Amino acid sequence: MTATAEPNALLITGATVLTLDDGRTIIENGAVAIEGDRITAVGASDDLRQRFPDMETLDATGKAVMPGFINSHTHAVLLVLRGTVEDMSGDAIFGYMTPISFAMTSDERRALARLGCLEAIRSGTTTVVEPFRFVAGYAQGMVETGLRLWLSESGADALTLKIRQGVYEYDQAFGEAFLERIVTLVERFHDTEAGRVQCQMAAHAPDVCSPWMLEQLNDLARKHGLTRTVHLAQSPGEIKQVRAAYGGALPGVTVEVTSPVLVEQPRIAVTDPHGRYDIGNLRPGAYTPSPFVCPDSARSFIAMSKSAMNRVRDFDARLKTRCARFP
Ligand SMILES: [Zn+2]
Repeated sequence: MTATAEPNALLITGATVLTLDDGRTIIENGAVAIEGDRITAVGASDDLRQRFPDMETLDATGKAVMPGFINSHTHAVLLVLRGTVEDMSGDAIFGYMTPISFAMTSDERRALARLGCLEAIRSGTTTVVEPFRFVAGYAQGMVETGLRLWLSESGADALTLKIRQGVYEYDQAFGEAFLERIVTLVERFHDTEAGRVQCQMAAHAPDVCSPWMLEQLNDLARKHGLTRTVHLAQSPGEIKQVRAAYGGALPGVTVEVTSPVLVEQPRIAVTDPHGRYDIGNLRPGAYTPSPFVCPDSARSFIAMSKSAMNRVRDFDARLKTRCARFP
């Protein structure tokens, strides 16, 4: 670098530059000029060498230069389980993976999370979305790596360590401990490091969050102006539990109803936060409310609450697992 060059400036030359601009422009033998923490120019190598003759250069011939990858969902701490889960049958999530999070100390989580961040950086990832448990205790270790982060504490009020025995026991005090940790995380880390570190609101999954818990999480999301994230349809046990508790449909599931008696063509609806849905615009007529059966469930549904509903001979409802975010 010459004496006149900007400090912390670098000109990467000779690369295949994937700009990912609106036209998806790719520049062969391209260059990128960086000054401080900003990209100040992108173009042909010869042009940028002329514009920035004094800038320190890095020859990237044979390499690609592109925006960083975004890992939109990971649990950095769980890299400790790598190689032990892939072939596991049964309930790996609540039988093994989630309970592990209770068995570690903050220092262990912090060390693993930092290693996860370093692996991410090494593979070209610049943004990591990390929902997990006890995050406030190790997040600083991730922040210090320089990654762009979206952090969240995955709230739940079902007693985690009982689920592997097939027991879903909802405990408000257990949920409130999560809510406290969520507030701690958000107050300490949200929108810090000049915006590089953000928080989200996370519900772990529909089976481990009661409607009370989901409402608490929604309230907190509104209060702090946070985006939301949730695991959905992550385990067979989740679908079974939600069906048993709420009559069959997950919140935000798309439901398609067909019936030669009731409707002239398939109708589509999306379930509400309680898994209920309403198919509107049915043919007018004097009907009698009646349950019906979903083909892929042993349960009878009694979602037909439209007043003066019909006889339901040949009525058929299909649940599709096309899921939206929880409301
Ligand atoms: Zn996950």
